[in-house]
Parts: sequence; structure tokens; C-alpha cells
Amino acid sequence: MAASIPLERTRNIGIAAHIDAGKTTVTECILVATKRIHRLGYVDEGSAQMDYMPQEGERGITITAAATTCEWAAHSINIIDTPGHVDFTVEVERSLRVLDGCIAVFCAASGVQPQSETVWRQANRYAIPRIAFVNKMDRMGAHFHDVLHQMRAKLEANVVAVQLPIGSEDQFQGIVDLISRKALFYPPSEDTGRQLELPVGREGPIPADMKALSETFREALVVAVADVDEVVEQQYLDGVQPSEDELRAGLRRATVTCRLVPVLCGSALRGRGIQPLLDAVVNYLPSPLDVPDVVGMEPDSGRETTRRPDPDEPFCGLLFKVLADPFTGRLAFVRVYSGVLRKGTSVLNTRLDRQERASRLLRMHANKREDLTEAGPGDIVAVIGLQTSTTGDTLCDRKAPIVLESMKFPEPVISMAIEPKTKLDQENLIKALARLADEDPTFAASTDTETGQQIISGMGELHLDIIKDRLLREFKVHATIGNPQVAYKETITQAARGRGEFIRQTGGRGHYGVVELELEPLEPGTNFEFVNATRGGPIPVEFMSAVQAGAREAMSAGVLAGYPVSNVRVRILDGKAHEVDSSELAFKNATVAAFRAAAEQGHPVLLEPVMSVEVVTPEGAMGEVANDLASRRADVESMTPGLGGTQVLRALAPLAGMFQYSTNLRNLTQGRGTYTMEPWMYRPVPAEVQVEIVGR
Ligand code: GDP
Repeated sequence: MAASIPLERTRNIGIAAHIDAGKTTVTECILVATKRIHRLGYVDEGSAQMDYMPQEGERGITITAAATTCEWAAHSINIIDTPGHVDFTVEVERSLRVLDGCIAVFCAASGVQPQSETVWRQANRYAIPRIAFVNKMDRMGAHFHDVLHQMRAKLEANVVAVQLPIGSEDQFQGIVDLISRKALFYPPSEDTGRQLELPVGREGPIPADMKALSETFREALVVAVADVDEVVEQQYLDGVQPSEDELRAGLRRATVTCRLVPVLCGSALRGRGIQPLLDAVVNYLPSPLDVPDVVGMEPDSGRETTRRPDPDEPFCGLLFKVLADPFTGRLAFVRVYSGVLRKGTSVLNTRLDRQERASRLLRMHANKREDLTEAGPGDIVAVIGLQTSTTGDTLCDRKAPIVLESMKFPEPVISMAIEPKTKLDQENLIKALARLADEDPTFAASTDTETGQQIISGMGELHLDIIKDRLLREFKVHATIGNPQVAYKETITQAARGRGEFIRQTGGRGHYGVVELELEPLEPGTNFEFVNATRGGPIPVEFMSAVQAGAREAMSAGVLAGYPVSNVRVRILDGKAHEVDSSELAFKNATVAAFRAAAEQGHPVLLEPVMSVEVVTPEGAMGEVANDLASRRADVESMTPGLGGTQVLRALAPLAGMFQYSTNLRNLTQGRGTYTMEPWMYRPVPAEVQVEIVGR
């Protein structure tokens, strides 16, 4: 927060959209309109300002949730970029966590698409107030009212038009503002967006042929607000027309509380409708003061506690993104919820129970960074100096510890082996992987214990492709990369006991350790629990951490095929020590042996990632698409009619059958089918498939 801009004039917003709806172009227009950049980048050439990793521009998708600040009408607007691709839902979730409001961009021609539904549901989950922008009004097939209708039907959103387009497709000339009863006309343009300035609409009266329609829609707007807002309702009942300001105030209350979604329209490509969109951000989206106080937990007592967005409260903030920056090093993006974060001071990381110094604070603009001496409630800043804090961590005043609800990250489901070409590549690879994993909690790197190969794991083929590109471009690592593999896991299905010993007592210093333990299957999602259930101290306390380390080591490679083991509780039942020869090594190895013996008895099974898939196909190809999905072991859960003669199939499909699915779907539907896919859960592999994979 610039010291001069009070909290009620701060907006923390995201721009969320289905890929290709025009989110990047809208963002750019906003930055041009607010004079943050002077030229429109040209998305199609990959030079947009927010997409700052080279391959994002190239692929036309936005991966990084970068934050950028701009000013409009004496308000400070922080824009958190949210990615549109479903492979990166975790990025969407994590940015939603720190936003106060959102612009949902829809394409006027393609309407509500499956991914828009995904993002909308996520925004519902976090109760994010929204305004909708129906973009591409200039495109062939643009239809404002159809999109409104779809938002009601498919998203079950309580939407209300606050504008009407004047004309559409190549006749799209301007916008009627229903509240002020004024029209904005834009000069004709062929343009593709390479302007220095955005066109400013000329204000005028509503065209005669739209007057009646506009009055009907204005009445509908008043009724919609009156339906959810008591003040306007009372006026309506009293037969009093609310003034423009009263109507806006009512709409603001309704939007901020997620009871209504105002809908606007325009064409970002032609720079039309952007200034009114910014006005709507200021008018209807919440300030940090309008959202409920942030809720957390006192780490010691476990008691719930809250913080108000007040500079006099103790400092607390959430670290929502780590980025390795080539110029300044590690940047940690923090949303401040309460109190003041001062440059050069230490803050407590409650997860690590350690203090770290915030040596510099930066406000990130699209084209420059500004050094700050402090950041107050509602602010979003990049912090330099935090070395070990990572995404999802709470930072706070050490005198008032608090843990904010942490983010949940799905586990990686797909992996690839990576083989550096030279020794130098090998060294660079290790560093690069560590940094990538630091930035991205859904990415992991490990070493295959048997082959010694480096393995990278992530959320999907596209995710790992992007990592691969970054390795080459940013880190100059040349490497061969294997085919994508399913990241299987193992678990047991029955409780079982095992005994292991490690005894070497011939000559020199001996080793002696005996461990008896029981493994119990746990609910999916609980990876590992360790319980010391011994009585009378058969294993000396000082060796218990070696026993636990042994259990963890055994978990890293299961008995079936060496895949990581999950959902298991390890209960140490008994053991034996030797006065002289017992050692950490002996207890660790004995535990591994006991674990493996028990796992063999516990009816081990292979678990596979199952994806939630949504396919939109032309009606005519539906049978084939459904059969094809079934042949991939998918369970088709529903088929519902979509728009324009399409059918929407929802299915749960093992990832193993879904590699290269896009090529396949293209062939089945003559290029007209689309699909989205995201990890759902890990599930046991059917017995016959398990035999194929592991031989038993
Ligand atoms: P994103 O994937 O949501 O970030 O979408 P982009 O901003 O990259 O836009 C996707 C494509 O749609 C690009 O080719 C843009 O030039 C184009 N586009 C964006 N806005 C408009 C618009 O208002 N009208 C038309 N006709 N095309 C647009």
C-alpha cells in the first residue's frame, strides 16, 4: 500500500479465465489504461508483460502467478495473475487464497467452457466476489445474452448485466451503461491491439433503437439488486427509484458479499470497455476492509484467532509464491493481512519456528520494481531475504504467533527420467531442480535408488514439458528426457506384523538391533504415521529416531516394485538392544527389514493416479469417444448436452491410459473435441493390471 493510498482504496484482484478467453490481453489493456506500460504487447507474438517466462508467451498460456500493481481513479490495484490451464489449478488456488476479488473473463463467442467452470467453482469455494467481463464482442459469433444465459445455467451464478453492447461482431461499436443511462461510442478500428493509448469512448445518449431494451435491462438490474439488498429493496417497495449512487452502492454491497455478479462487456483486442471495467473494479470489488478478518490458529494452544486489517495489529502475512529472479535472487510474494512489515526486520515463520529477515521489500509493477520501507495490511509485496520460507507459510510477529490455514497441494502424478548430457550439465541440473522445486510445490525431483537416474515429477505432461523448457533456457542444462511415466505408489490392505534384525558381532565394533513392528493401512491422504508403542524401553530412546528414519527409508521403496509407499501407520511394538553393540545403523536397518517383512504379509497393492476428465465432443462422435474412454479403463460418470450440438462427458480415468489423449481425441472428432483433466485421487490398480505391471 503506498503510504498515501488508504486501505479502502486498495483492491487485490485476480483475472481468471478459460485459456484463450483473452485474460492476457485484458491484463495488458489494464496496464496500458493505468499507464503502467506504454505499448500493448502483442499476445500472439508472445510479448505480453505479465507472462514473463519466455515459454509462457510462446505457448500462449500464463503459468506464474505474478503480482503487479497499478493505479486507477486514486485507487491502488494489485493484480495477481492466475493461470488458465487446468494443469496449473494449484496456481489458481493459491492465488485465489490471497485475492479479495476477481474479474472473470469470458469469450463472447465460446461462452462458458469447461475450464471456466473449474475456475468458477474454485472461486466459489474461497467465496471470492466477482465481476464478469464478456470479452471479444467484436468476434464472429459473439453473443452477449447467450453468455449471460450460460453463466446462469452452467455456473448457477446470480449474474446481472450492468452494460449492454451496442452492436456485436464487426458491428460492435460501444457500450450502454445501464446505471448512468449513457452510451460510450468507440471510433472505428481494424486494430489488433498495437496502440500506444487505449481508445477513449465518446459519451452520448443511448441510441434510439436501444432505449426500450436498456430500460427493461435497467429495471431488471434494480430488481436484482433489490432482491439481495435490503436498502434498495426498501426503496423499491416504497416506489422510490434509487439514485445512480444508491444503485451502485447497493450493487457494491451485493457483489462484495457474493450475492450478485455484475456483468460487463467489451473487446480487449480493440481496447474497448477497459476503462469502464476498471471503474467497476473500483466500484464493486472489495477492499481489504470489506472482507472478513483473516482466521488462523495460535500454534501453541491450537486456539482459533483472527487478525483485523489494521496497521496496529501484530503483523501477519501469507507467503503465496516463490520466484527465483535472475537479478535479485529469491523473491517471496507475501500478502500482508495485519500489522506492518518493515524492511530490515525479522519475522517468524510459524511452520519452521524460525525467524527470517525481510531485508528488502519490493512493489512489483509490470515494467519496474519499487523499493518500499514498509508494507501494510492488504498489501502484496515481494520480499527479498527469506531463505527457507516457502509457499503456503505464515509469516508473523514473533510476539504474536499465528498459523493461517495452509494451502493443500496435490501430489505429483507423472514422472520422467532426466539424463544430463555432460558432467557440467549434471552439476547445473542439481542446482536447477532444487530451485524449480523451491518455486513450485507441485514439482518434485528425486533419484531412482536402483538406477541412480534423476527423476522429475509433476502434475501432467504439459507441466513437465514446461519444466523441461525452463531447464534448457534458463539454466542451460542439456539433458535427454525419458517418456512420461505414471507415478505409481504402493500401500498395504491389511494390518500385518514383521520382525527385523541387524546383527554383526564378528570382530571390531559390533552392530546389534532388533525391531518388531506392525503396519496398518490408513485412509488415502494420510501418508505416514509413526507410533512408538513399545513398553518398558526395549529400544533405548536414543535409537528411536534411527528407527523412525528406517521406517521412512522403507516407505521410499515398496516391496512390490519399489514405488513409494503411502497411507501406512507404523507401530513399533518391541525390540532388543545390546549393551555395547547397539548402533543407529543397526536399528535403522532392522526397521527396514521389519517393515519389508510386514509389508509382504499385508497384501500389498499398487495405487495409481486417477484423473477427473471432462470431454466436450460433437454429438456425432459421442459414441466413439465414450467407447474409447472405456477402453482406457475410464468410468464415464455422466453425459450431458452442451452448447451447439455438443455433448459433455465426465469421467474418472486412470492416468496410465490418458497419455497423448489430445492427439487421439482430435482424430476421433476431426479436431473438434476438447478436454480438460486434473488429478482426482490415487486408487488401487485392478488385480489383472497389477499383474501386468509388477508380475504379481
Ligand atoms: P488468454 O489465454 O486468456 O490469456 O488469452 P489471450 O489474451 O492470450 O488471447 C487469446 C487470443 O484471443 C489471442 O489471439 C488474442 O489476440 C485474442 N483476443 C483477445 N481479446 C480479444 C478480443 O477482444 N477480440 C478478439 N477478436 N480477439 C481477442
